[in-house]
Amino acid sequence: MKTIYLVVPCYNEEEVLPETTKRLTAKLQSLQESGVVTPESRILYVDDGSRDRTWELICQYNRENPYVCGVKLSRNKGHQNALMAGLTTAREQCDAAISLDCDLQDDIEAIDRFLEEFEKGNDIVYGVRSSRKTDTFFKRTSAQMFYKFMKLMGVDIVYNHADYRLMSRRALDALMEFGEVNMFLRGMVPLIGFRSSTVTYERAERFAGESKYPLKKMLYFAFDGITSFSVKPIRMILSIGVIFMILSLVLLLYALIVKLTGNADAGWPTLFGSIWFLGGLQMFSIGLVGEYIGKIYTETKRRPRYFIEQILQK
Ligand code: UDP
Ligand code: MG
Repeated sequence: MKTIYLVVPCYNEEEVLPETTKRLTAKLQSLQESGVVTPESRILYVDDGSRDRTWELICQYNRENPYVCGVKLSRNKGHQNALMAGLTTAREQCDAAISLDCDLQDDIEAIDRFLEEFEKGNDIVYGVRSSRKTDTFFKRTSAQMFYKFMKLMGVDIVYNHADYRLMSRRALDALMEFGEVNMFLRGMVPLIGFRSSTVTYERAERFAGESKYPLKKMLYFAFDGITSFSVKPIRMILSIGVIFMILSLVLLLYALIVKLTGNADAGWPTLFGSIWFLGGLQMFSIGLVGEYIGKIYTETKRRPRYFIEQILQK
């Protein structure tokens, strides 16, 4: 029997918490009754600086429910930091931790299969979505583009895997060794290694409340993921620069021939176009390099990822 912790980050989730707690409690109870997990297994909510009644609810469940523990962060630090806070807290008490979203989009029935894979000796089990039927068309295509683009940009991530995963204590210990402040767990976990496997599940619809990942946040997340993990974009700029240099030599040669044959005409459209194009390219390039410098800046400051305001244990 293993002690498992279900780590659930919550940001303004008062609408879904009651149902989530009910279902997760039932799940843990049945797992415990069938002798799969120990009675010390817990649900660990991480309140990521919610502004609604999320923390009050967590405190209430902690009093009434034998399984619920909580961690309150001092302010909103984002999904990835909240997860990290939860995993760090869970690590000392558990044999394995499973991270999942508060809105129950991650099918909790898959937990049984996660545990089977864990028993087979896998240190990391990735939850992979089998389809995205329930997502809106926009969410589906944007997410698919996200995974493809990440691969293209040289970030090694598991396709259609978000943050629904099981990590053994050993894997969690390894994760703690990563010192970076710009965190992108999906990219970090595969770097740990150990034996791993996947479990596929059907991703459900968020049953209440709104997505905490609007488009703007999603774009930042993707951009952060790339620039935290890969220097490929900088190399691409280099390649583009080289290509343009060669191209401009060819054009120069062409212009020379035209001039020598006496056919030179005004040609301002080409000039006009290329100036704008190159201007844009240069600005983009400087911006991209700047993004990396910004990353170096925040990493060198070594700022703490989060502060824990309160811990509720059982
Ligand atoms: N979340 C968080 N901090 C944030 C934003 C989101 O802890 O700043 C949590 C949120 O409560 C949920 C999970 O991250 O449990 C995933 O968020 P959401 O369901 O809104 O994202 P989506 O499923 O739409 O991608
Ligand atoms: Mg969701």
